Amino acid sequence: MKPETPKALIYGPVPSRRLGYSLGLDILPFKTCSMDCVYCQLGAWGRTTVRRRDYVPVRAVLAQVRAALASGVRIDAITFSGSGEPTLHAGIGRIIDGIKRMTAVPVVVLTNSSTLAGRANGRDILRADIVVPSLDAVTDRVFAKVNRPHPGMSADRIVDGLVRFRRRFKGRIWLEVMLVRGVNDGPTHLRKLRQAIDRIQPDRVQINTVVRPPAEKSARPLTAEELGRVRLLLGPRAEVIADFRREKQAAPAPDASAALLEALGRRPMTAADLARSLGLPAPEVADMTGRLKAAGRLRAVRHGGRVYYERTAGSH
Ligand code: SF4
Repeated sequence: MKPETPKALIYGPVPSRRLGYSLGLDILPFKTCSMDCVYCQLGAWGRTTVRRRDYVPVRAVLAQVRAALASGVRIDAITFSGSGEPTLHAGIGRIIDGIKRMTAVPVVVLTNSSTLAGRANGRDILRADIVVPSLDAVTDRVFAKVNRPHPGMSADRIVDGLVRFRRRFKGRIWLEVMLVRGVNDGPTHLRKLRQAIDRIQPDRVQINTVVRPPAEKSARPLTAEELGRVRLLLGPRAEVIADFRREKQAAPAPDASAALLEALGRRPMTAADLARSLGLPAPEVADMTGRLKAAGRLRAVRHGGRVYYERTAGSH
């Protein structure tokens, strides 16, 4: 049997409209998350966790970041995102400190805001430069529908956590709101969301919708016009960041797509299987499967509660 490639803990740098060339850090096993959002690109998982631990060694992450910085490639930001909720890694504060000792490149943390609701209230990410917390729901009913959180979480506690974090955090907060048609875009909910935003006082409010292949087919996007109307409702700091022009983004390397299709030629695999066997970070796999699916080279089939990818006849 072919030995598995060791997991890459960094990916990119990938060009991003918001951050320039962003080096991604993927510090968790596939889909380690306190939520199971209907729009998640990593697929529906059916389970969540709030367990914090050193999921991958801090030293290994720092070694890979150091090598990327030394390679001379352009890096405008170092961003924690990837296979789930990065603040569930108990060593995220140590990783940020280690990066800060190496470079002045800004550190960005994408978070679903769940750990901000706890007693530590984001203590480990206070040294980041930019935090991009999500807030898709401000009532428990909508929260359950859009984010399918770990039992015991409440939308009110998440908002309170964000308000408290804003007072302590000296960097910039770009609050991201992901809108799903018919789920969290109703006028009453949007009015309550505006009230929550007024309490949180983020530097920016970034409005997004489901433009990439989501976990659930039922998760449908809003149109650009509808997003424009929501922007007016959410106040002066709101901007639309949804990118409807997917075809203009950089395509994945052809050999990475070929390796993915070759792996699927042997047997159908989940996104987690693909990430493991190709040694690629989950976001890269999600991006590639989305593109290959749109091009008709593979299809997704649901089996035993999991989503498997298989090659279509035309891709042989
Ligand atoms: S979208 Fe983010 S927060 Fe939601 S389930 Fe996926 S990884 Fe977790």
